[in-house]
Amino acid sequence: MPDLTGRVALVTGGTRGIGLATVRALVAAGATVVLTGRDESRAKEAAASAGAAAGLALDVTDAKAVSSLVRSVAKEHGKLDIVVANAGIMEDALLGMIREEAVDATLSTNVAGTLHTVQAAARAMMRKKTGAIVVLASIVGEYGSAGQTVYAASKAAVANIAKSAAKELGRSGIRVNAVAPGVIETDLTAGLSEEAKAENAAKTPLGRLGRAEEVANAIRFLVSDEASFVTGQVLGIDGGLVL
Ligand code: NDP
Repeated sequence: MPDLTGRVALVTGGTRGIGLATVRALVAAGATVVLTGRDESRAKEAAASAGAAAGLALDVTDAKAVSSLVRSVAKEHGKLDIVVANAGIMEDALLGMIREEAVDATLSTNVAGTLHTVQAAARAMMRKKTGAIVVLASIVGEYGSAGQTVYAASKAAVANIAKSAAKELGRSGIRVNAVAPGVIETDLTAGLSEEAKAENAAKTPLGRLGRAEEVANAIRFLVSDEASFVTGQVLGIDGGLVL
């Protein structure tokens, strides 16, 4: 396990699923971790259960709130070394059935929310000229997915945020990478039918769906010094599903 002792980390959407697993993974490696979620009491509860330093309320669609929360975390802890822009939502619909509200919510959470988080992280890290950011893309962002046009498009944008920000921030010592999970068993995918899950598992060379901890381990690698020459990458964590 990489050593993250002394590092200060922020994980958005850390109340459950991949975000909470990431918080646990970073805490286990010695980092001081602040997590966020939309509801303050859920965030506090998750923080207590994961050994995080704090659980704070944050809606990533609110640019000003993201900026001020990131600034205050960096101020309180003296710096910010690691940011994981994990918060995301998914609403599946065939093209003809896509709700306009779902388009707005998906783009403002997944795309604008990730952008706000990366912007605020970059501002906080710039002074120290060091930092590592990871954003949550998806295999569907690269390969597309029937019934998931809006979500897949949002995740393509997220992968590009990592690449463009990596180009812009590299000279400031800040690395930005994305992970592209396959089907991971969390609340987000709980609505999939057993049939769909079995079909995905069967198509996956490793023969099963993924676990949140397996994505978290890859994120922990990317934010650590073990990945010191890795930036602008989109790391697939999908059991080989896209092969
Ligand atoms: P979950 O639905 O389990 O968790 C989503 C998290 O995001 C929650 O902590 C939720 O917090 C938070 N969140 C949602 N909207 C907002 C918002 N507007 N502001 C702040 N926080 C918000 O999802 P997963 O853990 O499965 O997914 C995590 C990330 O990984 C997402 O970006 C997702 O798209 C991506 N991903 C997941 C895959 C999977 O198969 N599970 C595959 C590929 C990518 P709360 O509700 O407490 O506010």
